[in-house]
Amino acid sequence: MKICILPGDGIGPEITTQAVRVLKALAGDGLDFDTQEALVGGAAYRSHGHPLPASTLALARESDAILFGAVGDFSLDTLPRELRPEQAILGLRKELNLFANFRPALVYPELVQASSLKAEVVAGLDILIIRELTGDIYFGQPRGIRVLDNGEREGFDTMRYSESEIRRVAHVGFQAARKRQHRLCSVDKANVLDTMQLWREVVTEVGKEYSDVELSHLYVDNAAMQLLKNPKQFDVMVTGNMFGDILSDEASMLTGSIGMLPSASLNEHGFGLYEPIHGSAPDIAGKNIANPLATILSAAMMLRYSFNQAAAAERIEAAVRRVLAQGFRTGDIFEPGTRKVGTIEMGDAVLAAL
Ligand code: NAD
Repeated sequence: MKICILPGDGIGPEITTQAVRVLKALAGDGLDFDTQEALVGGAAYRSHGHPLPASTLALARESDAILFGAVGDFSLDTLPRELRPEQAILGLRKELNLFANFRPALVYPELVQASSLKAEVVAGLDILIIRELTGDIYFGQPRGIRVLDNGEREGFDTMRYSESEIRRVAHVGFQAARKRQHRLCSVDKANVLDTMQLWREVVTEVGKEYSDVELSHLYVDNAAMQLLKNPKQFDVMVTGNMFGDILSDEASMLTGSIGMLPSASLNEHGFGLYEPIHGSAPDIAGKNIANPLATILSAAMMLRYSFNQAAAAERIEAAVRRVLAQGFRTGDIFEPGTRKVGTIEMGDAVLAAL
């Protein structure tokens, strides 16, 4: 398993180091990891003049999966947009055709108080939101700001999805549901938007190939409400780029802890980029206080989705549950009565639990 490690900026190197330790601890037992590291984001700009240098992209292409830390460096925010650190992720998504974004939202019993919702609403929550990542109104043409005959400016964007784009992400949704509780909820706005009418038709057609998965449909406004009212009704949700952007952030906040949430962006061949959902957290970088668990859990997702190693993924997830049950907490999830540890000590605790 060739893994390209892209630590990036800020806390990126600290947290990926811990995730790599965890992967290496699992080596043997039929698992053989070859990890190679490259620069990305602000770190790459400083040494190569570009946030996604050709050498980094080449290494990513030769690999089976990418473990990504985070990018972002406020001191580079005055650069032209195409040279800013965050462009590296967009470049990787585009170059590697990573069209399916997986965002699990899971509430650990020990962290239930971190949610702003009532404990009984979120306790035991385990949902997966799959967001289409390369189409929709974010990329549709034409778009722009034009001046009308009356001199007023008008902004416009185009929502569009081709049948094949909908079909491929629908397949990903059904297949993910098969690895979980066999329930898929497709979210659209078919009552108002023609693009979304097509979305619903195509998802329904694809569903005929998955008679073992229960398919339901919700309009996005209702889905946003249901996520707050009764989030545990969902198993897997699949939706377009814009709705997924909003719903996946809403769902992540059900858990209340940004340092705990992994993500994956996959292409058709199971190649994936795995990263925590948080950014480079420059405010806490280099202090050994960042929570490495989101990155460690991203490595578990990599084993499950790119390498089909569900048992190994579950070992990591069980180890994380165990360290939480043992009371280990980084500062972001600390509560009185628990044991505050740093980034490295949290990595040590996961290794011990493994
Ligand atoms: P952020 O996610 O980096 O941080 C938000 C807050 O959460 C900060 O207070 C931070 O200290 C805390 N936090 C984040 N991760 C944590 C962790 N693992 N452990 C403990 N605390 C953690 O968001 P931001 O401050 O808005 O952005 C910082 C930089 O990251 C910006 O340059 C932004 O563009 C970039 N960014 C990158 C990504 C990415 O790489 N995918 C995502 C979001 C933001």
